[in-house]
Amino acid sequence: MRFDIITIFPEMFASVFSGGIIRKAVERGLIQVNVHNLRDYATGKHRQVDDRPFGGDEGMVFKPEPIFAAVESLRGGSDAPAYLLSPQGRRFDQRLAEEWARFPRILLICGRYEGVDERVSRFLAAEEVSIGDYVLTGGEPAAVVIVDAVSRFVPGVVGKEESVARDSFSRGLLDFPHYTRPREFRGMKTPEVLFSGNHGKISSWRRKKALEKTRLKRPDLLAKADLSPEDRKLLERMDKERKERKTP
Ligand code: SAM
Repeated sequence: MRFDIITIFPEMFASVFSGGIIRKAVERGLIQVNVHNLRDYATGKHRQVDDRPFGGDEGMVFKPEPIFAAVESLRGGSDAPAYLLSPQGRRFDQRLAEEWARFPRILLICGRYEGVDERVSRFLAAEEVSIGDYVLTGGEPAAVVIVDAVSRFVPGVVGKEESVARDSFSRGLLDFPHYTRPREFRGMKTPEVLFSGNHGKISSWRRKKALEKTRLKRPDLLAKADLSPEDRKLLERMDKERKERKTP
């Protein structure tokens, strides 16, 4: 899978992609991350990429011409989708990460300042995408988040030891709790079941804990989760126990 990032700060990406799983994935040829300087697609003596907003206001806006030129040139006749990073866009989530990992290639356009000329989102970008309801100074951190999350779904990028299918959100629930050595730390113990050697018991405990965590931290996820009749029974029991604890 290939990512093409269009930015005015290409140097920002050097260190984030130079370590960990993403670096290994690049080295193994599983993913390609190409960072392009928007200024290379601007014309004129000053290679200007931004200008003052029509109608008058504070700040600067990215001009449409360099962005259209960059996307058209990088696409090279292919139909690779270009996504405009924007706080006004569709919310990026685990499902979208999984969906995008099936594309051979995506382009990510990073805005700055007051944003990007509206004609980019209306006539060039496949979609506007946001990584959350807050405003960043630029699209670069959002591009890093997206490359990282999408790459985890590219086959071979994440090893068995970090199963993507088991992660939070992938099965509609949060992940179960994890413990490692020491077995006891400052009087805080690891649940005994994890030493039982009984894989069936451990797996039911993990499912129960994932359900409990989701119920507690993200009850909104349960409505869409893929729940078995057993899961539903467990949730009912949890609710009943909680009510009993509240009733004097
Ligand atoms: N004036 C814009 C607005 O209120 O919608 C915000 C512009 S923001 C300061 C500059 C750039 O950062 C945007 O063009 C976008 O590329 C990026 N950006 C900011 N917040 C983002 C978010 N939550 N998700 C994705 N990109 C974001």
